[in-house]
Amino acid sequence: MNAARHAERSAIVLTGCTVVDGRALEGVAPLADAAVWVRGERIEAVGPAPEVLAAAGAAGDFRQVDLAGAYLTPGLVNMHTHLSLSLPGQGGDAVKGLGAYELAHYMADGARRTLRCGVTTVRCVAEKDHADFALRRAIAFGRVTGPRIFTAGQALVCTGGHGHEGTDTLECDGADGFRRGVRGQVKAGADLIKVMISGGIAGEHESIHTRQLFPDELAAVIETAHAWGRKVTAHAGPAPVIAEAVELGLDCVEHGYQLTPEVAALMAERGTALVPTLLVTRCEEFFDQLGVPEWMRRRSLDAGPRHLESYAMALAAGVEVLLGSDMPPFWQFEGTNASVRELEHMSESGLGPARALYAGTLGPVRWLGAEADLGTVEPGKYADLIAMDGDPLTATSAFRGVRWVMSGGRIVRDDRTGWNAS
Ligand SMILES: [Zn+2]
Repeated sequence: MNAARHAERSAIVLTGCTVVDGRALEGVAPLADAAVWVRGERIEAVGPAPEVLAAAGAAGDFRQVDLAGAYLTPGLVNMHTHLSLSLPGQGGDAVKGLGAYELAHYMADGARRTLRCGVTTVRCVAEKDHADFALRRAIAFGRVTGPRIFTAGQALVCTGGHGHEGTDTLECDGADGFRRGVRGQVKAGADLIKVMISGGIAGEHESIHTRQLFPDELAAVIETAHAWGRKVTAHAGPAPVIAEAVELGLDCVEHGYQLTPEVAALMAERGTALVPTLLVTRCEEFFDQLGVPEWMRRRSLDAGPRHLESYAMALAAGVEVLLGSDMPPFWQFEGTNASVRELEHMSESGLGPARALYAGTLGPVRWLGAEADLGTVEPGKYADLIAMDGDPLTATSAFRGVRWVMSGGRIVRDDRTGWNAS
């Protein structure tokens, strides 16, 4: 973060709030009548309002912001994001047809909308043309309003494999090819590596069951990424392919459409997380808006019941599950945005509100290795905070009511005053 942007921010004390975060699962109770002192980009203190106000007053001037009885939580973290998503069909073709400069603006617009939804961090898992690295820099320097970005750059895929049609993937073949692919993404600035190891819903010439990498290719990806200190996440459907990858050290599974109790137990044992992206098989309205072809609609809907069974198996086995929408995180959908809708599905399908809060905040942050900076409302962390009227520990739908958003100590949305940062 640049110094000039930092200096612009005066101290703020947030009052009139109940502070809640993912540590509720670990015995840290919500704090009612709390105040949060934000100095620069970070949280200075959290505690009972009189104490925090006195401490802030003793340190100098500050601005008090009354949140009027809101619940204050860390911002959401969406672990499966594509800001340059282009599915088959006319909506996706329009994105594919954008020139480089247009694409950059399109992604910046998505980033701004995402942050306004209260999603303060995203993990991008395949973006076009390395535009994500430019966007990440623009956000870090304050030229664009958007979430913090952790990104895989382009996803690695075998020739003709899942997603090969777009410039958000890089075709590789053979162990050497995949090693080069990993190193190329790391060279460009990737925080993690994404690899497509099976077919999926959006590929016309494959099925969800199609195995796409040989074991030596998969091992090459994982060994190379780990040697460079990067985790690997895989687009994966069928259980045998996932089991093999988990044995080789895979860190995270995307979708997991067809888990079995055995592979779920293996994931739990090895600490492999699951980003279930439940929306992918239940988002007809979104597909209609984009005009996706009939074969894709059908494949999506058909996979829905089995996908939900898989998710239940993962929960039963104790697999860590994390929020990820796959749909653009800001997309207005079924009365809210895609990030909140996904979290509702996760909560209602067995997770419950307290674990959903964790799966949408602290859980992802721990996977990203960013817990020193993000994920809870604690002194020393970045002031990435959101406020809503409902209690998120009672109902995940409380996140539909996010009405105030702060990113790095800067208020970027306040519905009561009509303020929206541009
Ligand atoms: Zn995806």
